[in-house]
Amino acid sequence: MSASSVLRAHDLYRFYHAGEEETLALRGVSLEVHAGEVVAIAGPSGSGKSTLLACLAGLDEPDGGNVTVAGARMTRRPESVRAELRARHIGILMQSENLLMNLSVADNIRLQLALAGVTDSSAVHSALQRAEIGHRAGAKAGQLSGGEMARAALAIALSTNPPLLLADEPTGEVDEETESKLLRVLDDRRKSGGATIIATHSEALMRWADRNIKLLDGRVIE
Ligand code: ADP
Ligand code: MG
Repeated sequence: MSASSVLRAHDLYRFYHAGEEETLALRGVSLEVHAGEVVAIAGPSGSGKSTLLACLAGLDEPDGGNVTVAGARMTRRPESVRAELRARHIGILMQSENLLMNLSVADNIRLQLALAGVTDSSAVHSALQRAEIGHRAGAKAGQLSGGEMARAALAIALSTNPPLLLADEPTGEVDEETESKLLRVLDDRRKSGGATIIATHSEALMRWADRNIKLLDGRVIE
């Protein structure tokens, strides 16, 4: 693994079983991402993008292969270890999954910072500013509009300045204004050396990325 490698996935397999049916969601996916690199993961619905991101984040456990984050193995470690690695190294932007709906936006951010061991009290404010959601800081996440939720989720995902951001179709359900805001924030992040992996159908995001990886039936095809 080279020095600036932020994430390395080696030969990931993930199978799902439902009754007689077996789905081969990932079949030997390998990838490496370096500091400051933006990688777009493309591929049709059902090709394994979300499964791959969940395995990279340690939210799901692959059936084969392994994931290394900032030099530490994530795979086949206890959940507590995975949670700590995740909190310290990874920002996660997955359709509404990182918002606790009964907490205010600011408290959601505080929680994420606490999990990562960040004690700098100005971090909440900068996270709110960065995603332009400061005016809704006190609102419960469950009471936000779709676009506001997307911004709040972005504020949380980036609050710890994670070396790696994993985003699952972040522009899938948002309005144009939120999409261009998201692109600006991601661009700033790239300039400051953060690595990003984005699953997306957006041609604009794919062009903007340094590298595209195309999945088909759980395999990398280009
Ligand atoms: P994508 O994000 O590219 O649309 P997914 O990773 O969500 O693809 O899904 C890959 C394949 O795995 C699909 O065939 C999907 O139906 C299947 N799959 C995903 N999650 C589960 C699950 N929890 N149980 C069973 N099958 C699943
Ligand atoms: Mg998906």
